[in-house]
Amino acid sequence: MLDNLTQRLAKVVKTMRGEARLTESNTAEMLREVRMALLEADVALPAVRELIARVKEKALGEDVIGSLTPGQALVGVVQKELASVIGADLGENASELNFATQPPAIILMAGLQGAGKTTTVGKLALYLREKKKKKVLTVSADVYRPAAIGQLETVTAQAGADFFPTTINDKPVDIALAALDWAKKHHHEVLIIDTAGRLGIDEAMMQEIAAVHAAVKPIETLFVVDAMLGQDAVNTAKAFNDALPLTGVVLTKLDGDSRGGAALSVRHVTGKPIKFAGVSEKLDGLEAFDATRMANRILGMGDILALVESAQKGMDIEAAKGLAEKIKVGGKFDMNDFKAQLAQMKNMGSLSSLMDKLPAQFQQAASGANMDNAEKQMRRMEGIINSMTPLERAKPDLIKASRKRRIAAGAGVQIQEVNRMLAQFDQMQSMMKKLKGGGMMKMMRGLKG
Ligand code: GDP
Repeated sequence: MLDNLTQRLAKVVKTMRGEARLTESNTAEMLREVRMALLEADVALPAVRELIARVKEKALGEDVIGSLTPGQALVGVVQKELASVIGADLGENASELNFATQPPAIILMAGLQGAGKTTTVGKLALYLREKKKKKVLTVSADVYRPAAIGQLETVTAQAGADFFPTTINDKPVDIALAALDWAKKHHHEVLIIDTAGRLGIDEAMMQEIAAVHAAVKPIETLFVVDAMLGQDAVNTAKAFNDALPLTGVVLTKLDGDSRGGAALSVRHVTGKPIKFAGVSEKLDGLEAFDATRMANRILGMGDILALVESAQKGMDIEAAKGLAEKIKVGGKFDMNDFKAQLAQMKNMGSLSSLMDKLPAQFQQAASGANMDNAEKQMRRMEGIINSMTPLERAKPDLIKASRKRRIAAGAGVQIQEVNRMLAQFDQMQSMMKKLKGGGMMKMMRGLKG
């Protein structure tokens, strides 16, 4: 596995602990590591150079605050600069699509064959229909592959949008104009035009899509690029950017294991905002692009936000609030609450898939723990609680030898396991008592001290 940038810098800075400021001499070696990390993440060299220059300028003279080491301080600068170069400083609305035109708003899709254009048309149609409540029409101007037209028809139907049928005997410009005419007559608010891609950059293809662009003057021209392309993304982006006035980029296949360096390269070459990220083959696998998260991914710092988000999604917020409320007003924490907590942990997704999203250093720390095993245990605990009567759940103190035997038999486990769970519950209950006394901070301090 690739080393985390933080870890690599930590190795370099061991010798310079205690330095109070980032200087030319103490950052030179660290910047070499930053450059390596970016190249390993498949960022193209010119983009790496520009970023390093920016980082150098911002880092010089920066104070190393508090308990940070110079390496950590530098990582902070790199992370911030990288995120802002990728798009964080474009503001929140940078990834919004523009509809400020006479309807229909036309979106033209450009990119190589296999980049994910057709799939992205389906995703956009679904997103626009469901989230933006738009009436959407799609059309394929790919007159080379009949299968591509069929594929677009299928994804459009899946997205619940309308499809304008065409044949390979039509001309791309005529197709686009006919679809536009149809969209106007039938009051579509958005028309998405899919185009032919080739396997490589091709002059005839560029002229063809430029002609379609000139004919319908789309308000959005989106360049779709596969994140797995790595360094090659640069040449492709340059060719399309030269041929067409792009308005934005869609970076696809970010669910793969690429580090996403293409994001920086493509931004560097086109200067256009990355509006969306493709994160699965399915039609709901489209996300608004998040530059800060992308910067963390490129630097190998894990997708912490994604983790937090999936935790929030899975958690029953109302149940969590109810529990918090109960503890605050001095209610007793009983087995029912314990069970609800277990269920919430399960909702957050499998532990091992959550682990995948953690930064490398946490993954390392936890690699000793057997996640599958932990999950199995959680299910068994739930089985035990399910075998209790409502009264037992409310008053676990009642559970003595004969009840334990009955519960163990019901859950298909040994009595020892029931004992263990009751002991864990006891621990949890006394922890909750401390929390009740407003002791959260106290407890945290206790853990640290
Ligand atoms: P086009 O030739 O540019 O129209 O590309 P397609 O839409 O046909 O996509 C090519 C392949 O990439 C298909 O197998 C898609 O399912 C797949 N694909 C597209 N977007 C994504 C994505 O975000 N994630 C993943 N995993 N696969 C994708």
